Amino acid sequence: MKCLCMLRQRENQRLQEFCLKQYSDVNQTRLFGKMASCVAEEPIKKIAIFGGTHGNELTGVFLVTHWLKNGAEIHREGLEVKPFITNPRAVEKCTRYIDCDLNRVFNLENLSKEMSEDLPYEVRRAQEINHLFGPKNSDNCYDVVFDLHNTTSNMGCTLILEDSRNDFLIQMFHYIKTSLAPLPCYVYLIEHPFLKYATTRSIAKYPVGIEVGPQPQGVLRADILDQMRRMIKHALDFIHHFNKGKEFPPCAIEVYKIMEKVDYPRNENGDVAAVIHPHLQDQDWKPLHPGDPVFVSLDGKVIPLDGDCTVYPVFVNEAAYYEKKEAFAKTTKLTLNAKSICSTLH
Ligand SMILES: [Zn+2]
Repeated sequence: MKCLCMLRQRENQRLQEFCLKQYSDVNQTRLFGKMASCVAEEPIKKIAIFGGTHGNELTGVFLVTHWLKNGAEIHREGLEVKPFITNPRAVEKCTRYIDCDLNRVFNLENLSKEMSEDLPYEVRRAQEINHLFGPKNSDNCYDVVFDLHNTTSNMGCTLILEDSRNDFLIQMFHYIKTSLAPLPCYVYLIEHPFLKYATTRSIAKYPVGIEVGPQPQGVLRADILDQMRRMIKHALDFIHHFNKGKEFPPCAIEVYKIMEKVDYPRNENGDVAAVIHPHLQDQDWKPLHPGDPVFVSLDGKVIPLDGDCTVYPVFVNEAAYYEKKEAFAKTTKLTLNAKSICSTLH
């Protein structure tokens, strides 16, 4: 365990050193004027806002349905912003999915399967979505996809990042975090050799997961609705400023990188044998130290955190993850730096 912990710290250190080097390279070029002061990126043209990827996470369903009727709020000059319900059959039934989780099937194997009525509904739907907004990894795909989710966990405003070296998204997340302050907005980095999953939004050049909670499945809360709406507003404003030629100076954000998923203790039949300890309930993003209580069984037995690393738990007691055998995920905190960016048009 100690070995793993040290390895991870070394890996994080390497990542941070890489980012810091990028940061200092940019600063030096700025200082000596050897090259353009910012990394030029193509302007953004096409954006999609997905709701209902999970049909019982109602904030995104409600907002997208509203924007389909009246899109004034998401309109930005020169930009195509398309609201879209991704899993209409699950939305109709107010369930997470019909046959399988739409947010896990966007790998190239599923997307290239021959279309057939025998395929799970969500795989067929994934192919339609890939056709409309992709194809994934092609030049024709949408520039940005915002995918709107709710969690039953106490995670507040959360942005999900899939790639730690994406300057454009780090800059966007920095802008959103700064605009929302003092309301906290956390960044969950799901970059991992085998824990990363094939998300619906991954068809876009810049995939953005938006996760706001706590909110029970099938419920709408005004506070959560307001927070998600503000996140989208700031994200669109950022893109608007970027397209208009604003230069964003180098920045840094704090992120929580996935390390490991932790299952509930189970009995010999595979049934859950202990629940999240009250000291851990609702404590997403807060440090959890070795020896701190994690689970408690019906007979009062407390199961503490093992290992010798302090971790930051997320998705604590998420309702949808009982079937995925995930009681919470352990994360480690690190800082990502982004170079200065500006649009190529200016
Ligand atoms: Zn979801």
